Amino acid sequence: MNGIHLTYKRFVIYTSSIATFIGLMSICGWLINFNILKHTISGHIEMKFNTAVCIVLLGTALLLRPKNNQSGRHVIKALALLVVGFSALTLFQDIFINFSVDDLFIPEDPVKNVSGRINPLTALFLIITGLAIFFNCTDSKRCKHVMQYQLHLVTIVCGVILIGHLFDVPQFYMFNFITTMPFSTALALVALSSATTILNPSYGVVSLFTGKMIGNYMARKLSMKMFFSILLLGYLHNLDHRYNWLSPQLGSVLLTVSFMAITLILIWESCTAINRIDHKKNIARENFRLGVESSPYALILSDANDKIIHANVQTERLYGYTRKELAGQSLELIIPENSLTLYHEKKQDNNKVVALGIEEDIFAVRKDGTQFPVEIVLTPVKTIEGAVVMASIFDISLRKQQENIIRDQVIELQVKNQELEHVTYIASHDLQEPLRTVSNYITLLEEDYPDQINGEIKQHLGTMQAATTRMSLLIRSFLDYGKLGRNRKFGPTNCNDVVNNVVADLNNLIKCSNATITIATKLPLLYAYETELRLLFQNLINNAIKFRKKDVAPQITVGCKELDGFFEFYVSDNGIGISCKDKDVIFHIFKRVKTEEEYEGHGIGLANCKKIADIHGGKIWVEPGTESGSTFKFTILNFKT
Ligand code: ADP
Repeated sequence: MNGIHLTYKRFVIYTSSIATFIGLMSICGWLINFNILKHTISGHIEMKFNTAVCIVLLGTALLLRPKNNQSGRHVIKALALLVVGFSALTLFQDIFINFSVDDLFIPEDPVKNVSGRINPLTALFLIITGLAIFFNCTDSKRCKHVMQYQLHLVTIVCGVILIGHLFDVPQFYMFNFITTMPFSTALALVALSSATTILNPSYGVVSLFTGKMIGNYMARKLSMKMFFSILLLGYLHNLDHRYNWLSPQLGSVLLTVSFMAITLILIWESCTAINRIDHKKNIARENFRLGVESSPYALILSDANDKIIHANVQTERLYGYTRKELAGQSLELIIPENSLTLYHEKKQDNNKVVALGIEEDIFAVRKDGTQFPVEIVLTPVKTIEGAVVMASIFDISLRKQQENIIRDQVIELQVKNQELEHVTYIASHDLQEPLRTVSNYITLLEEDYPDQINGEIKQHLGTMQAATTRMSLLIRSFLDYGKLGRNRKFGPTNCNDVVNNVVADLNNLIKCSNATITIATKLPLLYAYETELRLLFQNLINNAIKFRKKDVAPQITVGCKELDGFFEFYVSDNGIGISCKDKDVIFHIFKRVKTEEEYEGHGIGLANCKKIADIHGGKIWVEPGTESGSTFKFTILNFKT
C-alpha cells in the first residue's frame, strides 16, 4: 500500500466499508432473525450466515491495509487465511463428504430449508479474494499478478450476477449446477474484489485506469459515464419490455437513438479533452523551442550514440558551424573528447546532471581551430525517441580574463602593501633617532648652561622636551600598529580564559576605580588569533574603565551570542558615552574625541581593535548613548562552520 495514491486509499476504505456493512447487516439479521437485514433488498434471497462472516473478515482485513504496518500485516494475513480455509472446507464438503461445517454458527433448519452453507461459487470467490489479500501483504510480484486477473474474474462474474438481479433475469444468477448467489453477496464481492485490485494499481486491467498517460486519463473519464449510461438504457429497455410501455419498434428505435446520442456526447467530450491536452503540449513544446533558441548559452541535443540532433543559434555563433553542418555529427566536435569520457563515467553513477569545467579547465575548439575555455552542463532528457543529452555550453573566456586581471591585481596589491608596511616600519624606526638627538641636546643645554637657561627659555625647552616625548610615544604606537598581527598564531581559543586573564592584568586599575566586570554569558571556545583577541578585549575593557563618569563606579558587562557563521561579542559600560557623530571617527588611527587633559591616551587603541576584528573576518562598531554609557560590539568569523 506504500506509494498508493490517496484517492485509491479512499476507494479501498469506502468499498471495503460497504462490504463490511452488508456483511454485518446480514449477521445481525440472522442473530435477531430479522429478514430485511438478511436480504438487503426485500424479495431477494438472503446472504448465508457463513458468507456474511467471511465478508466481514475480508472487509476488516482490507480496512486495516492502508495503515501498512508490520503487525497489521500479520493480522490481515491471518484474517485472509481464515476465510480461505473456511471457504475451502465448504467447497470440499460440497464435492466430497459433508461434515457440517455449515452448522458451525447457525444450525441447519430442515423445515425452513435454512442453512449457513456458503454457495460454492461464493466460496470459490471468497478463496480468490482471500488469497489476493494475503499475497498483497507479501513481496511476491508473480502471485500478485496472477491474483489480480483472478480478481477481475470475480468482479466481472459478480457484476453480471448483479445485473441479472437488477434486470430480474434468473439465467444470470440462478444456475442449475449450484445454488443462487444472492444480490447482497454479489454486491459485497464486487466491492471486496475491486478494493483488492486497487491495492495493486499497476497490475492487470486496473492499470488502464490508474496510469498517468492521456489514455489512462480518458479511460478514467469515460468508463464510469459509459458504464452507467448503458446500464440505465438497458434497465429502461427492460422495464419497457416488462410493462409494455412502448411498441417493440419504437422501443428499439428509442434505445438506438439514445445510445447514439450518449456515444456522441462522450466522443465529443473526450475529443475536447484530448484537443485541450494536445494544445497544452504544443504550447509547452513551442515554449521549450523558444527557450532553447533564445538561450544565451549554446544548447545542443544529442542521442544515445553522441550524435548531434539539434543545436541552437548560440551554438552557431559560438562555434562558427551552421546547424546543417552540426546535425548528425559526433558531439566530440563540440565537446572535448576527454570531457565526454568524463561525462559518460559520471553518468554511470547517478544518471543525473553532470557539470564539467568547474574544478578543471576545459577548452572547446571552434570551426577555425581557435580554442576557448568553457563550462559544460550535461543533462539527460527523456523523450519519446529515447534518452537524449542536452549539453549547455558557457563560454567563460571573459570571466577567465577578468579572473586573471583580478588575480594579478591582488598579487600586485599584496606586494605594494608589504612594501608600504616595510617603509612605514623603517621610517618610524628611523624617526626615533633624530628625536632622541633633539631630546639629548635639550638635556645637554639645560645641564651645560644652567645660568643662561632660566625663565622663559627654560619654559620653552620644557615644552620642546614634552613634545619630543609625545612624538616618540606616537611613533612607538604607530610601530606597534604596523607590527600587529605580523606573527599571529591561529588556534582554538577559550574566550572565557582570555577575558579572565585580561581582568587579572587590569586588577590594579579595577580596584582603584571600584569597577565591576560581569561576564554575562558563557564565552565560546573558538578558532582565533589568541594574542590579538586578548589585546582587543584589553583595549575595550581598559577604555570602559578609563572613560568613566566622575564619581560613578564603572559597571562593565562582557557577553557573546552565536549568529549565522559569526560570534558577536559586546563590551558595555556606564561611562561618559560617545555621541553619534563620533561613532565612526574613533576607530581611525590617532583620532581622539576627549582631549588629553581630561583622559590620557594616543588614539591608537580602537584602531588596533579594528585591525584585529578585520583579521578575524569580522567588524567592530559602537552603539552610542551619551547618557547611559556605550556598547562596543565586534564580530568574529566562526571558522569551524
Ligand atoms: P585613546 O583611548 O587613546 O583615546 P582609543 O582609540 O582607545 O584611544 O579611543 C579613541 C576615542 O574613543 C577616545 O579618545 C574616546 O573619546 C573614545 N572612547 C573609546 N572608548 C570609549 C568608551 N568606553 N566610552 C567613551 N568613549 C570612548
